[in-house]
Amino acid sequence: MKFSDIHGHSELKKNIIKTIRQGRIAHAQLLISSEGSSSLPLAIAYAQYASCIDKGEDDSCGVCTSCIKYNQLIHPDLHFTFPIFGSNETCDDFINDFRTTFLANPLMNLNDWFNSINADNKKPNVNVKEIRNIMRKLSLKSYESEYKVSIMWLPEYFGKEGNVLLKLLEEPPEKTLFLLVTEHPDNILTTIISRTQFIKIPRYSYSDVEQYLIGNRIAEGDIAKNAALMSEGNLNKAIKLATEISDPQFDIFRSWLLDCYQGNMSKIISEMDVYSDKGKEGLKLFFLYGLQMLRSAMLIKHQDLSDKLTATELEFAGKLSKLIELSSTQIIYDAFNEAIFEIDRNGSVKLILINLSLKLKNSLRPKVVSPTN
Ligand SMILES: [Zn+2]
Repeated sequence: MKFSDIHGHSELKKNIIKTIRQGRIAHAQLLISSEGSSSLPLAIAYAQYASCIDKGEDDSCGVCTSCIKYNQLIHPDLHFTFPIFGSNETCDDFINDFRTTFLANPLMNLNDWFNSINADNKKPNVNVKEIRNIMRKLSLKSYESEYKVSIMWLPEYFGKEGNVLLKLLEEPPEKTLFLLVTEHPDNILTTIISRTQFIKIPRYSYSDVEQYLIGNRIAEGDIAKNAALMSEGNLNKAIKLATEISDPQFDIFRSWLLDCYQGNMSKIISEMDVYSDKGKEGLKLFFLYGLQMLRSAMLIKHQDLSDKLTATELEFAGKLSKLIELSSTQIIYDAFNEAIFEIDRNGSVKLILINLSLKLKNSLRPKVVSPTN
């Protein structure tokens, strides 16, 4: 993974490269980011650059014996620790899956990783056996490079085993570089945090995400625009959203909302396949899209949204705005967020959808009926 393979973050990359070129490599670094910000790719690019035999001024060479192994994540001095499940395995048992999943999608999140090893419903952790294993590996001399690199992805799942890691960070084996990549620094032991140097990775901006989608031919026009808008700077989510929006998301949402408004629950139930066929992630994205449309409807009277919505969506949001009372806003937000939460907990799609549909029906302003008819 070269720095040039990673979207955006140009200032951050320059700073990282500068510190490496000046030999100012802190032995334990904590990369802090939100999901979908390319933090794991940056950690790997960092390690690849530090180990590259023929490094250029602004990137690793990509072709030396070290880079070739790094490209496939098989360098013998590169060690990964990441969330797994159970107590009998170590990360070595999963390393081939980890390499394949990462190389297929360097922006993968924990959910993508667990899906790829069929562990969706298992509790992620890093067990003591893995920590002992990594300690053993790092106590050995490096094979080829000056540095042994230990990349720890999502150390927030280390739990109490982190105490063992603490000792490792306090008395690091010689020429060892620790790169911890976290999305929830609050869940890491403060004693670990205090022993690391921080690298904060900013969220991608709306236009960063849009450029990525267009530049990589994932989406264009309104689809790229909408996916970027809903992604909250999460590149991984934006790609999924773009794929999902390419489906006629708008038409399904408009039809469903109309059914909610009219209290047509039997039609919603009879068309349940339309929703359940989306799968867990697809349904979450559908609800996020719905939430975004309702939010737009609430804002449209006060903001120009023409650069954020398509012409059809703008027209629809305008009509929808007349049905939403200010006092219902919070109830609608909560209802959608609860539905998304329930899907994550593997609740029944039918129950979740009916529940949300009823709440929406009750929150939308009833049609004004003239006393004469
Ligand atoms: Zn190289």
